[in-house]
Amino acid sequence: MSGIDIAPDARGKVRDLYDLGDQLLLVASDRISAFDYVLPDDIPHKGAVLTQLSCFWFELLDGVVENHLVSSDVRDLPERFRPYADYLRGRFMLVRKAQMFPVECIVRGYLAGSGLAEYRRQGTVCGIRLPDGLVNSSRLEQPLYTPSTKADIGDHDENISFERTVELMGARDAEALRDLSLKVYATARDHAASRGIVIADTKFEFGRVDGRIVLADEVLTPDSSRFWPGDRYQPGADQPSFDKQYVRDWLTANWDRTGEPPHLPAEVIERTSQKYIAAYEQITGRAFAY
Ligand code: ATP
Ligand code: MG
Repeated sequence: MSGIDIAPDARGKVRDLYDLGDQLLLVASDRISAFDYVLPDDIPHKGAVLTQLSCFWFELLDGVVENHLVSSDVRDLPERFRPYADYLRGRFMLVRKAQMFPVECIVRGYLAGSGLAEYRRQGTVCGIRLPDGLVNSSRLEQPLYTPSTKADIGDHDENISFERTVELMGARDAEALRDLSLKVYATARDHAASRGIVIADTKFEFGRVDGRIVLADEVLTPDSSRFWPGDRYQPGADQPSFDKQYVRDWLTANWDRTGEPPHLPAEVIERTSQKYIAAYEQITGRAFAY
């Protein structure tokens, strides 16, 4: 079984969403996106890795933040989805439907990606001035909260200031999202560090359910985060990573980003799949169940 014969109510770049009234069925496909394009190849097991890693974190973060997860047990699937249990097992989450906040809550503990580029240009990250002398992949004294807008499919997310998030949702919610993001990041960073992984940065999405703020979407996965092997961490250069940086690097070398993205070579697909699984196994200490 390679999918579901029921049309989703909405389709993200990676997830298919089924509206169940108060709840959503979120199904993570094996699709992969890079540079805001969905690539033409699937990465085997990727959807299951994202889902099971998110579920692991929701449990570990219990007590730190409320989350949207209701169940990931196939016995809780609504009747009409039961015929697809074999496909859905391990890759779906039944969640409480939330009123999503219109921002992506990014936390950066290390200097990488667009943050590094901005620092090199003007000594700041998302407008926040940092000390001189930092290098590629430097650990930041304090993790930074650098929110961005949530762009529609095809558009690029845009960094915004904390003040702008106050304008968008009011000071109370803006502060709550910032404080929760930093707290969740710190908890996850410490766990990952104990398992030999550096969480360089990550993105959270929050929503409101019954008046309360809950952590929603996927959390602390290779799609939403930069994971680096701790034992090879060496500031001053790009780090090897467990995330899709490998795919981005291949695309950068083989595609000028005009027109549709090309097919990935079989070897790149296979290695990417292995990286996702390795990230799951190292962070959770569990063997990935195929
Ligand atoms: P975006 O780039 O806007 O996140 P995406 O392409 O990443 O979209 P997916 O991750 O594929 O989207 O799909 C998940 C979608 O479901 C996201 O738009 C996310 O905001 C939304 N979502 C996640 N959890 C909930 C929830 N509990 N209630 C409502 N919407 C949710
Ligand atoms: Mg998403």
